[in-house]
Amino acid sequence: MTGLSSCLACGGQRLKGVADLGDSPVLTGALFEDRERARAAVHGRLDLSACLDCGHVQNVAFDPELVEYDVSYDNSLHFSGTFQAYADELVARLVGEYGIRGTHVVEIGSGKGDFLAALAAAGGNTGTGYDPTVEPLTRIEGVRLVQDYFRPGEQVEPYGLLACRHVLEHLEDPAALLTSLVPDAPAGALFYLEVPSAEFNFGPDGLWDCIYPHVSYFSAGSLAALLRRTGFEIVSLERSFHGQFLSAEVRVGHSADGIDDPGEHLAVVDAFGRRHQEAVARWRADVAAAAERGQTVVVWGAGSKGVNFLNAVDPEGTLLAVDINPRKHGRYLPGGGHRVVAPESLRDLDVSTVAVTNPVYRDEIARILAELGVPADVVTV
Ligand SMILES: [Zn+2]
Repeated sequence: MTGLSSCLACGGQRLKGVADLGDSPVLTGALFEDRERARAAVHGRLDLSACLDCGHVQNVAFDPELVEYDVSYDNSLHFSGTFQAYADELVARLVGEYGIRGTHVVEIGSGKGDFLAALAAAGGNTGTGYDPTVEPLTRIEGVRLVQDYFRPGEQVEPYGLLACRHVLEHLEDPAALLTSLVPDAPAGALFYLEVPSAEFNFGPDGLWDCIYPHVSYFSAGSLAALLRRTGFEIVSLERSFHGQFLSAEVRVGHSADGIDDPGEHLAVVDAFGRRHQEAVARWRADVAAAAERGQTVVVWGAGSKGVNFLNAVDPEGTLLAVDINPRKHGRYLPGGGHRVVAPESLRDLDVSTVAVTNPVYRDEIARILAELGVPADVVTV
């Protein structure tokens, strides 16, 4: 075990246990060709502690040796119209408000390159993306994708924007990465950092967001503490994507020290463990009652939230997961080995309830079900 006994955000030493969620598949985004392999996927323990100084939450049982990202890891959200609208708005804002035009963009954790492609198209930018999950044959005009991790000290072309989305929460030492970017940062370069919002993850709508690859759960306060500590000046730090993300726009520079009072956030985090247990018990009863009537509950969304929900409520893997991403159809999810099907498959089933793991997509899903003629209740989990 390395430095997980200190807060990864503020460096403080006062950590308090808040929820031990037990074993979970290490890669909830992995997809398997057969059920046996999906059920044999590697598991790790989720034992969450909160920092009493800044409100940061981290998995103190995290073992980086268990996590390996490769091209089979599919975290892409770009198949959803709702997410696409958010991503388009973000790109328009970076180009319009910050003048990210005709410059070079470096992205740490570029996934399959969708964001860099959009910045290239909207602002005539070039880009370099680093991500071990890049498909080697991906070709995007003006964009170079490196199928590897970005490592502290990596030499890069001078850039006007460095983006790092949904990466910091995966790192065992996010401060080391941020600190390493400071000395070589081009003058005036903008940094755009995006992480899941712990305010959402632990709040009333976010029960299923704790996943093994996330070492850290940043709140606005703990992200600010990390950024200030590592040599950045905050231009803007807000919740985004319907409150589910935190978006920080920063530049290298000094800002006033001090950590925001984490009291309110710590109370939300404290209530989380109890609510999680109650929700699991309620859904298990609903699934059993539907089965008695000869009906079934299906889960919409074969992403991390869906995997977490399915494994908590149905560890035997009897329920189906529905997803609009055709790359997932016919494959199996880690843990229970739940099968992923296309929305059209629901026409042949007697579905009582469609459990939606993300409230943002609820209307989109209800519309698709209506088009398919599936009269199930749509319920956000
Ligand atoms: Zn802290």
